Amino acid sequence: MSDEFFCVYCRKPIAGTRKRSARYCGLECRNKVTAARRKEETLKNRNLKEMIVKVHADWLTTFHHELLTWAIPEAGGYQVGLWIGQMTYWFPSMPEGTRLRNTLLRTRSRHSFFSLEPFEPPTVPLIAVYQVRFVHKIPPHPVLSIQDEKWRKWIPYAVPIRPLPFNLRAVPRDLR
Ligand SMILES: [Zn+2]
Repeated sequence: MSDEFFCVYCRKPIAGTRKRSARYCGLECRNKVTAARRKEETLKNRNLKEMIVKVHADWLTTFHHELLTWAIPEAGGYQVGLWIGQMTYWFPSMPEGTRLRNTLLRTRSRHSFFSLEPFEPPTVPLIAVYQVRFVHKIPPHPVLSIQDEKWRKWIPYAVPIRPLPFNLRAVPRDLR
């Protein structure tokens, strides 16, 4: 039996180690594997988003119409809120220090709200019931306080969002 270990990436023997935990011959190979994994993740998310927009096209059209019916003329965008056990967390998620976020339409936005026109579909991490609220169309886009109980919507899809400042498991089951 050989006591040599081989690089996971280039299959060259790993010199000077007897450790089973050694997986790469060097930094270069390790970085290549990390980059490949990242690329795969991006691709998977991209395909997922494309598929969501296609599969849920009718739902998205209906939701957009509902939003336009509910919104007052001053509204320029909307947010969707998830009850996470102790508070409502509002999406889109913009952790502190974030300048840009990825949209479901694979564009980037610097806004902490989804746009009404042109319509930006909501990006949420869980299939669940969300509260809906609107923000003013004029910067700094304050939240419009008129709330209505009927402004609740079950969103039928989810995309991975990281990082999130709360545990998705804390979301009460009856909202899912
Ligand atoms: Zn290697």
